[in-house]
Amino acid sequence: MKKKIKYNRILLKISGEFLKGTEKFSINILFIEKLIIQIKKLLELGLQIGLVIGGGNLFRGSDLEKIGMRRTISDQVGMLSTVINGLFLYELMYKHNIKTRIFSSSNLEGICDRYRLDKVNQALDNGCVVIFCFGLGIPFFTTDSAACIYGIEIKADIFLKGTKVNGIYSSDPLINPLAKLYKKLTYTKVLQKKLKVMDNTSLILAQENKLPIIVFNMYNPAILYDLVIGNDKIGTLISD
Ligand code: UDP
Repeated sequence: MKKKIKYNRILLKISGEFLKGTEKFSINILFIEKLIIQIKKLLELGLQIGLVIGGGNLFRGSDLEKIGMRRTISDQVGMLSTVINGLFLYELMYKHNIKTRIFSSSNLEGICDRYRLDKVNQALDNGCVVIFCFGLGIPFFTTDSAACIYGIEIKADIFLKGTKVNGIYSSDPLINPLAKLYKKLTYTKVLQKKLKVMDNTSLILAQENKLPIIVFNMYNPAILYDLVIGNDKIGTLISD
């Protein structure tokens, strides 16, 4: 019997940290292909999938600022890193016969289509995976904020935020083995407890626009299936 899907339109954030896999810098193609195989399975279930791409495996604005670069230029380099990652992903999707469109918040003619909500919705309705790159196109923001804004704009049912661990813990589980995994949290609790899962701007955007977030272990992409059918034993749900 066909499983009922809980979240039909998802916005998945793919961080640079994930894309580099076990490498120190750059991109780990074998690692990304494991995720692509899961994405293919989700498409077969009829899911609509948007992917917001990070750039931290290549350059982050805040790191470049520390070595003396002006912040605006640093952030532009960071945003261009998300384009490089996005193109890799786009190419790998092509190799796996997945219909994909890549959009950028700024004009990168000849490389990406310029973001326009109706074009994105049309692509999603036609079963294409949509890759969003270049963040929001403005400095001092993160790709988590971009993921929230695009998630809100495309009316995603859920924002899936992958991390290295199984969800949000009371303290860092890689340091404290007694750290407690939260199953559910409100946006306010995450902010009050300073649970460093994403920046406050992103959380407030999600809260004000009622975009639910699930924080889950991205290093086990097979659980994406359990997440979309609504298995609430996985990850931490942030909502009102
Ligand atoms: N960035 C930006 N504006 C945005 C999104 C990203 O300036 O709207 C820059 C910022 O310098 C950031 C870099 O792009 O450090 C890479 O994004 P992020 O750090 O969010 O990537 P991730 O940590 O997810 O790999």
